[in-house]
Amino acid sequence: MKWYKKLHWQIIIGMILGLLWGLFASVFGLIDFTQDFIRPFGTIFIDLLKLIAVPLVLVSLVVGVASLNDVTKLSRMGGKTVAIYMVTTVFAITIGLTVVNILNPGGTLPDETRATLIESYSENVEGRDEAAAALQDRSFLEFFVDIVPENFFEAASDNTNMLQVVFIALLLGIGLINIPAQKGQALINVFESLNDVIIKVVDLIMKTAPYGVFALMAAVIVDLTGDDLGQALILLKALGWYCIAVLIGLLLHVFIVYSTLFKLFSKMKLRDFFKAIQPAILLGFSTSSSLATLPVTMERVEKNLGVKEEVSSFVLPVGATINMDGTSLYQAVAAVFIAQALGMDLTIAQQITIVLTATAASIGAAGVPGAGIIMLVIVLQSVQVPIEGIALILGVDRILDMARTAVNITGDAAVSVAVAHTEGKLGELHFDDE
Ligand code: ASP
Repeated sequence: MKWYKKLHWQIIIGMILGLLWGLFASVFGLIDFTQDFIRPFGTIFIDLLKLIAVPLVLVSLVVGVASLNDVTKLSRMGGKTVAIYMVTTVFAITIGLTVVNILNPGGTLPDETRATLIESYSENVEGRDEAAAALQDRSFLEFFVDIVPENFFEAASDNTNMLQVVFIALLLGIGLINIPAQKGQALINVFESLNDVIIKVVDLIMKTAPYGVFALMAAVIVDLTGDDLGQALILLKALGWYCIAVLIGLLLHVFIVYSTLFKLFSKMKLRDFFKAIQPAILLGFSTSSSLATLPVTMERVEKNLGVKEEVSSFVLPVGATINMDGTSLYQAVAAVFIAQALGMDLTIAQQITIVLTATAASIGAAGVPGAGIIMLVIVLQSVQVPIEGIALILGVDRILDMARTAVNITGDAAVSVAVAHTEGKLGELHFDDE
């Protein structure tokens, strides 16, 4: 197949063209045109993916659990998954803290830039403050209460309730394991063929990905630059070190933690891994949503990385909701950056508090755009850094959201490989797009 016919290249080309269009539109006054006639295609593309997310998780998890034939296998896999997720998250935060302490990006921000940034974004902070307060009022056990839905349709009606959908699918799957095989077979057949249909639909949606990604990128760029490209560049320059700190942290995390994970738990090479799941990572980057990307992540992990469905259908949906290595790393960098910019020195004890709260905050953050910055409020409050400081970083948050979402997805996929290998459920690698 010619290189440009491969899906990931087409997505990359779509992204680059979208970026160029966004810049062109900002300079030549085509912002309204972009908002009215280009953005909607991006929105339709994301909505199609979101539409498929709940049925996909439900159906593939039921099929996966039913094929395990044994509840102890399920609980062993569950324990392992959550443990690896927690460990990688703590590493991510530690890397974030190390990088931000060494680079000290907050110390380099000129006083007047700091004042202007705070002034221009402070209004936007309020809503996030309230959203975080509502979340913070909940007790620890409420997390578990929230996982158990009281109504099936209510759970299935909101994509951010993915853990509830996972719970329902687990119950159904466990029920199926525990009735005589001939009785369950009819339902398993239905779920299996539904599963095949859904996978085909994801394939079809992905054929439009290059266009969807073009529209999404163009929309992000015009949002970012507004009609003043110069202003956006000044903002990027002022916050450049902060952005670089987050990006370096993310890269270090991917190359150190995931390659170690592969060395310990599977023989997969990081390079092969990336080659196989590229479209999912690119899509995470352009949609800024791990939930919207979930159908594609599942497809890639199963078809290309060779992870068997009974593992991927459990590990990935759970990961998309509770495992956010990119987000937690970013929260650590952002919290310390804000403290540095406001002239506060954080003690070691405070930095340890950041590790704990950022782990919890990333579990609580939904896999949707901008979720990480809402949960950042909780991290800041835990170390008594004024939350108004968020105003400093709001302007560049969208770009960092894209990068951290790509890492969130990479983390879920990497852990699914590790779990699959230890369970003897890792098949052959495939690099093709079909
Ligand atoms: N956008 C991220 C995700 O979907 C969450 C965040 O960090 O805002 O994974």
